[in-house]
Amino acid sequence: MQVITLSDLECDYLNARQCCTKLNIWVIPKLIAHAVLIPAFLFYGYWLLALINLPILGWMTFEFLTVPSGNTGVFDPTEIYNRGQLKRHMRQCMIFLGWYLISFFIYMYWKRGVAPGNWKRVLLVIAHPDDECMFFGPTLVEVVRRGGKVYVVCLSSGEQGGTGDVRKRELFAACSALGVPQADVVVYRCCDLADGPHNSWSPLLVARLVSHHAHVRSADVLLTFDRYGVSYHENHVSAWRGVVLAVRNALCPEHSQAYALETVNILRKYSVFFDCFLSRCTSNIIFIASLDDHSKIVKAMSTGHPSQYIWFRRLFMYFSRYAYINTYKRIIGK
Ligand SMILES: [Zn+2]
Repeated sequence: MQVITLSDLECDYLNARQCCTKLNIWVIPKLIAHAVLIPAFLFYGYWLLALINLPILGWMTFEFLTVPSGNTGVFDPTEIYNRGQLKRHMRQCMIFLGWYLISFFIYMYWKRGVAPGNWKRVLLVIAHPDDECMFFGPTLVEVVRRGGKVYVVCLSSGEQGGTGDVRKRELFAACSALGVPQADVVVYRCCDLADGPHNSWSPLLVARLVSHHAHVRSADVLLTFDRYGVSYHENHVSAWRGVVLAVRNALCPEHSQAYALETVNILRKYSVFFDCFLSRCTSNIIFIASLDDHSKIVKAMSTGHPSQYIWFRRLFMYFSRYAYINTYKRIIGK
């Protein structure tokens, strides 16, 4: 509103007196609202929001207390055109707007708890060791925290990114750091499931493996990539094709449901946790990692997969939304 009022003054739709009267009315209510908001944020545990709003409150108080005597308020009609004050007020309003926007996204990120609570026995079908940390971390951490069991089936040992043995051991270590014991992790090393961005795997073979593990583990939920496989990696897409085939041919336990991790466009992919608002609007099944959860996922990746933790994957773990947010779409049988 302040921006509009100041623009009206700049365009001569309002005179200086009208503009300053309008703006000064809101100075004290805004100050009080911020003073009340900060303890409210602290009370509900939104400490980061309280912290980032503290400088705003400090600045507003300073401005209010240092109004020169004789002026009508923070905005004074006789001074607003002097010494570039109008420009300064405009700039300040834009900074405040940006600040509010960031606060809003942090609030949306923090307001967690829309993950489905009835996922008790989850079978995660991935293509390579490290997929579990890089793409499915928020889900695994949340399911384990709620007392659910997670079983991981890794269809290849990722031999393109290192030796199969090392990567297999790394997967066990990373899963263990995420709360999934080694006994619940299976890694395949098979020439029909060769690792490679252009290697397509037989959907029937994948479907059979998925079906076997889903029955052995009595899985109630199956998770995998979607048709775009996050990065269009052919192995990820093959995992999806196999799960779809298993679901469509009723090869999975009757009570089970399958979900595909949604692939988002590149802008959303690298939007850290700022994608939380759009994710909430577009998906019903959403897992959002807290900052603690995120450090747990990064630690699992860095200590569990040292051979893979090179610079671009380090950046991915901090800037990709998959390290903070997972959203899913149901894979329908018929
Ligand atoms: Zn992968």
